[in-house]
Amino acid sequence: MKSRLHNIHQLTYDTLAELHNELQKEKEDYVKENNQEKAKELWVCQTIIEVHKLYQNAFKLLKEKSYYQGWCQLERIEITISGLKRHFSYNKKEFFLWHIEKSVKNLQVIFPYRLFASMEALKKKKECSICNQEISIRNPCGHIIGEIYNGEMCHRIVTEAEVLGISLVENPGNKYSVMFLKDEKTGEQVDQYNYQTIDYLFAHIHSPFEIWDLEVSEREIKKSDYGNIGRNDKCSCNSGKKFKKCCGLKIGEKYPHYEFIVINPTNKTLLTNTLKASR
Ligand SMILES: [Zn+2]
Ligand SMILES: [Zn+2]
Repeated sequence: MKSRLHNIHQLTYDTLAELHNELQKEKEDYVKENNQEKAKELWVCQTIIEVHKLYQNAFKLLKEKSYYQGWCQLERIEITISGLKRHFSYNKKEFFLWHIEKSVKNLQVIFPYRLFASMEALKKKKECSICNQEISIRNPCGHIIGEIYNGEMCHRIVTEAEVLGISLVENPGNKYSVMFLKDEKTGEQVDQYNYQTIDYLFAHIHSPFEIWDLEVSEREIKKSDYGNIGRNDKCSCNSGKKFKKCCGLKIGEKYPHYEFIVINPTNKTLLTNTLKASR
């Protein structure tokens, strides 16, 4: 069945969507026959297709500089892959999943988002997505979260919750809740982040399956980064202040250094690019 996905990385988004629908019909037939094994196999195929659709979409959004939307797709890929892994262990080359997983991780590293809002909520009522029965510790329905029933993954649907509070965290349970500033006058959301590292990478890669890698190291701001400036000279950033009272204060600070290794398959050259991340 998985042989139908052999050229998955060459399919367009629309073809992927068509294939997904085709498999859905077949899956429904298997469910009617109560053939759980085949239905689950089709769920695996559909989930692989889903990962590819999300990845193509993420690539397109980031190329178009729709950063936050792209970020959300990356998060969906991470969640979808972790659900898939429970039922399907793949080797390095299969269906480009390894490439996608690694690219998503690397992209998340070079995103400037560091703090997230995390909602603490008391989940008062939840339902099972398979049987729609209300669940409590005393009253379980027997379906297990993450398992596949009738070709669908079981999860809980929260139907009633009370928000207890919101905290700022570095490693949130989900990464959707990025903090943005608000313009005081217009009330509109402002994107205050600097995406130059992402732009830099996307100027060098042209297709979602082009191979690239990232190496992160730590560097230190040095006096020599500012050339021959004297401590009492006007600072080169045009702040009007003396160097020693302005950028000179940053000497010794650490910053992440990103190095991209881009292997362009069309001309088979190896490009190494470095970029100092600005904060
Ligand atoms: Zn259930
Ligand atoms: Zn300065």
